[in-house]
Amino acid sequence: MARAYNFSPGPAALPESVLRQAQSDMLEWGDAGASIVEISHRGPEFMQIAAQTEADLRTLLAVPDDYAVLFVPGGATTQQALIALNFASEGDAVDYVVSGHWGKTALKQLTPAVRLNIAASGEADGYHTIPARDSWQLTPGAAYVHITANETIHGVEFRPAWGNPAPDVGDVPLFADFSSSIASEPLDISRYALIYAGAQKNLGPVGISVVIVRRDLLERAGQPRAHMFNYKAQLENDSMLNTPPTWNWYLLGLTVKWMLGEGGTDEFDRRSDVKSMLLYSTIDGSGGFYRNDVDASVRSRMNVPFFLADEALNDAFLSGAREAGLIGLKGHRVLGGMRASIYNAMPVEGVQALVGYMQEFQKRHG
Ligand code: PMP
Repeated sequence: MARAYNFSPGPAALPESVLRQAQSDMLEWGDAGASIVEISHRGPEFMQIAAQTEADLRTLLAVPDDYAVLFVPGGATTQQALIALNFASEGDAVDYVVSGHWGKTALKQLTPAVRLNIAASGEADGYHTIPARDSWQLTPGAAYVHITANETIHGVEFRPAWGNPAPDVGDVPLFADFSSSIASEPLDISRYALIYAGAQKNLGPVGISVVIVRRDLLERAGQPRAHMFNYKAQLENDSMLNTPPTWNWYLLGLTVKWMLGEGGTDEFDRRSDVKSMLLYSTIDGSGGFYRNDVDASVRSRMNVPFFLADEALNDAFLSGAREAGLIGLKGHRVLGGMRASIYNAMPVEGVQALVGYMQEFQKRHG
């Protein structure tokens, strides 16, 4: 059976060549005499994979030398808890800009020891825009400002009008959740103090996250916490404070290599423009049959939520899509409707197939 075009938001589609490589490595890695999941993380074979993965990721994202790269177990939510523990001391103010569901979720990970300031929120208008920068109420001397670069559910993304796409927050360190848009375009990392991303969208499999952090921040005392939750200790131990998720790390490495081979972030930037424009123009040109409510200046290029004017057609749309080899299109329960996630591993042809299906569905039911 042919593989479907998979629009799942995460865990998401991986490049077929990565899956095939993983399949062939599953039984035996090189001449290790065992598979990657069966050998020591501290042995030469895996240490080589880890070193190569970091080197490749640094190349892909142009990570400056004064930034550390950590590969840590768990997802983005875990990092949302750890960033506050590591970089905000008791009594410190932390500023959060909430532009969708995940920015709001991040607030739940804070301990009462810090003073939360919601500097801006798009919630009142249903997260259809990002509040203008000059409306943000930032706290002078805050430990950091946190943004969500791309909101996976609401389909709202900081686009270049905001900087690259970082907003200017002065001297306060800018932290950004890049879980669903990392490596989709060239980034000036130096505009951020910290970037984190769960891997399961653009970087590979679920179960591991990447944290890119300016090294001087690791000297901060933070809040009392267990050793295992200490980013500096992770760095000093090669991200191996405990047995790391080696298989996930290896798959992440294969995915990063694939992205480099495809032309890197410049190429994914180009493809993301093509793919997202195809989808948005189909939605906008449907005469209201399909609808996306997000302000055009902040529409996500990775996650495109859309609604059918007649919601009674939702099930027919989804089952017809499945028959056409298009899966993972059901919207998140928070929003309903549909959502097409079009990460780096989604080829342009997949989006062409989707818009073809959407137009045909409209002809039949419009
Ligand atoms: N932030 C963003 C932007 C996300 O898309 C997600 C998951 N979809 C999360 C955080 C939570 O990630 P996890 O489930 O890996 O903890």
